[in-house]
Amino acid sequence: MNKIWLSSPHMEGHELDYIKDAYNKNHVFPLGEYVDLFESRILNEIKYKKGQCLALNSGTSALHLAIKLCGILPGDEVICSSFTFSASVNPILYEGGNPVFVDSENDTWNMCPILLKKCIKDRISLGKKPKAIILVHLYGMPAKIDEILEISNYYNIPIIEDAAESLGSYYNNQHTGTFGEYGIFSFNGNKIITTSGGGALICKNERLKYDALKYATQSREPVNWYEHTQIGYNYRLSNISAAIGVGQLEILRKRVNKRREIFSRYKKELSDLGVTTFQLEPNTKFFSNHWLTALTFNEKYNVSRLINYLNKYNIESRHLWKPMHLQPFFSNFKLYTNGISEKIFKTGICLPSSSLLTNEEQTYVIEKIKKWYLKKH
Ligand SMILES: *Cc1c(COP(=O)(O)O)cnc(C)c1O
Repeated sequence: MNKIWLSSPHMEGHELDYIKDAYNKNHVFPLGEYVDLFESRILNEIKYKKGQCLALNSGTSALHLAIKLCGILPGDEVICSSFTFSASVNPILYEGGNPVFVDSENDTWNMCPILLKKCIKDRISLGKKPKAIILVHLYGMPAKIDEILEISNYYNIPIIEDAAESLGSYYNNQHTGTFGEYGIFSFNGNKIITTSGGGALICKNERLKYDALKYATQSREPVNWYEHTQIGYNYRLSNISAAIGVGQLEILRKRVNKRREIFSRYKKELSDLGVTTFQLEPNTKFFSNHWLTALTFNEKYNVSRLINYLNKYNIESRHLWKPMHLQPFFSNFKLYTNGISEKIFKTGICLPSSSLLTNEEQTYVIEKIKKWYLKKH
């Protein structure tokens, strides 16, 4: 049996045609027709006709530019979901801001609206009104957006949606990443579709896109010589990468269907064990791409041992994201917690969810998990 990966790139064929086309035109640079096409196709896909999209070299750079556009200055506080990957938080520190972590709720595993409200009230009473909220849709599951938007509107604090994992996920039939002031996507190699490495910033108007593009291209002023009046970055996406992205976007829906099928089958076959809880859509408003199938076991099972056990059989699985407030590097920042993400982290696991996973391979994974469970019993 070949190695069974957690989440692999999955090319269909057109990607190569587009790469060859860009190559033949010698359009091998970080701009060009595929970058433009990728941006407009993303907007089409997420049905955000009034919005703007900027293709970038990573999801992290997209987050960084969103932080810049929110005007975060040294010492400013920015609220962030604690249960996430470190890339959601680091860009706050790039600007000298201070993250304030907010824990999860049990339904979607994402930011808890009740704690968010408590956190904002508390920070305001201390004279430190947060400047932005970074809201993550973990493993593709939309957060409780209505509740969170209401709070954000009431206190007038902009939301940056970290939709890196939730391309193809919807809330109330609206695509994730289009609710906040800004949204970001990632096209890293392990995401639901990939450009081998890349990202995109979603914003509300041309002015914001212009400002973001300027930062992303070394803040060059529009004159003949190189003139600079502010700090700049090199964050643009290559035309070759964008060519891959255009091909990948054409088959996004297929990828979403496949990942959802994989999730359903794990759920059907592993729920029988009676000790698992899956990351479920709480009701029909939520539509998750189920980028990774994530579940928790009863506390008496040691998931680290399960991961090692599966690894012996050439199956890659992974712990859930370790909450930011438990990370040595971030442990000194402010935290509003209810213990939920810590508990989910301790008992949770991500199973192989690659769209390349065959039926036989999934059967093999399920059998191995059942066997491990019986041994433990
Ligand atoms: C992957 C990911 C990112 C970062 O995207 P890159 O393209 O790898 O920089 C940010 N946030 C979350 C939640 C992610 O999973």
